[in-house]
Amino acid sequence: MDVVHPEAFRALLQGIGIIAGVTHVAFCALFFWAHVAPLAYVNIASVLSYVWVFELARRGHVARAWAVTVLEVLGHAILAVSVIGWDTGFHYYILLVIPVAVISTIRPVILKAITVVGVMMSYLALDIVLRHREPPSALPAVFIDGLHYFNVVGVMIILIFLAGYYYYLIDKATKALRDMALSDPLTQLRNRRAITEMIRREESRLRRGQHHLSFILCDLDHFKVINDSKGHDAGDEVLKVVSKTLASCMRDVDFVARWGGEEFLAVLPDTDPEGAKLVAERIRRKVENQVIDVAGIGEPLKVTMTLGVATLRPGEGAEQAIIRADAALYEGKHQGRNRVAFASFALNS
Ligand code: GH3
Ligand code: MG
Ligand code: MG
Repeated sequence: MDVVHPEAFRALLQGIGIIAGVTHVAFCALFFWAHVAPLAYVNIASVLSYVWVFELARRGHVARAWAVTVLEVLGHAILAVSVIGWDTGFHYYILLVIPVAVISTIRPVILKAITVVGVMMSYLALDIVLRHREPPSALPAVFIDGLHYFNVVGVMIILIFLAGYYYYLIDKATKALRDMALSDPLTQLRNRRAITEMIRREESRLRRGQHHLSFILCDLDHFKVINDSKGHDAGDEVLKVVSKTLASCMRDVDFVARWGGEEFLAVLPDTDPEGAKLVAERIRRKVENQVIDVAGIGEPLKVTMTLGVATLRPGEGAEQAIIRADAALYEGKHQGRNRVAFASFALNS
């Protein structure tokens, strides 16, 4: 997965179009006010360029929008420092092209490299030629200083904006990856890794205060028969529907995950054996009474579940309690399925 998605770079270019467009309108007014008409006209051209950048990006022509941006920044900066002098600081804007080029989604990568090297060369060439040269248009020193600090602060603000946007993109990509790593793609429930993390957290909460922690291991009855007679896709559909049913039986503090193929684990914090029994029975009944419509297979399906319940004993680890829930589940299967079976909470059994 790209950290910078093409869509994000397109949005960035649109943002640049708006911000740069508005800034150049301000420059336009400033230069008219200072009677430097040629530069005011240049800024009108810049405003139009950024309207164009915005429109190109909006239509998805990202490479062209980026090319217009780079040419505008370079052309405008070169013209400004050539006419009103190096001290105005318009050349700093050229440097901003470098980070944006690096994070751009422009391909092939060699194009990025050419842009970056081209920008570096242009900057150095301008520095060598113009830094010590008197500008043809001698503006009042106070005006030059004003422009200089305006540009320095402007570049700093744009850098903050770019770094902030990049940070936001990384944060979003990290969260998306984490969600992917912790959820089951078929049922959208949490996966085994996610629930194991949560159980660890509950265990440490338990060590601090004395609360109950209960586990319900749920296994669909004769699920293989559904796959064999109705097809694997119908089986998948059943898993999705049953997942939703399970999730609907949970309180906000509970969590449920796909533990394995057609097995689910519900974890119930602050729930004693009696409470867990009620929840398990509710799940069993809801699944039993549910009619599942699967497209393309004629008659609706009905399924049942066997559930093994265990409550963590004092001093016991969660793995042990889940093993006991599994043993209870196994017993329940032997006793005829579609039932709730309990692992004893008492230590002597
Ligand atoms: P029991 O009542 O004893 O639990 O019988 P069962 O048929 O449910 O148990 P068994 O463990 O023999 O079979 C589980 C089946 O679940 C076998 C496997 O193909 C199926 N299964 C596991 N994961 C998936 C899945 O993601 N999609 C589908 N469609 N089937 C799955
Ligand atoms: Mg099973
Ligand atoms: Mg099963």
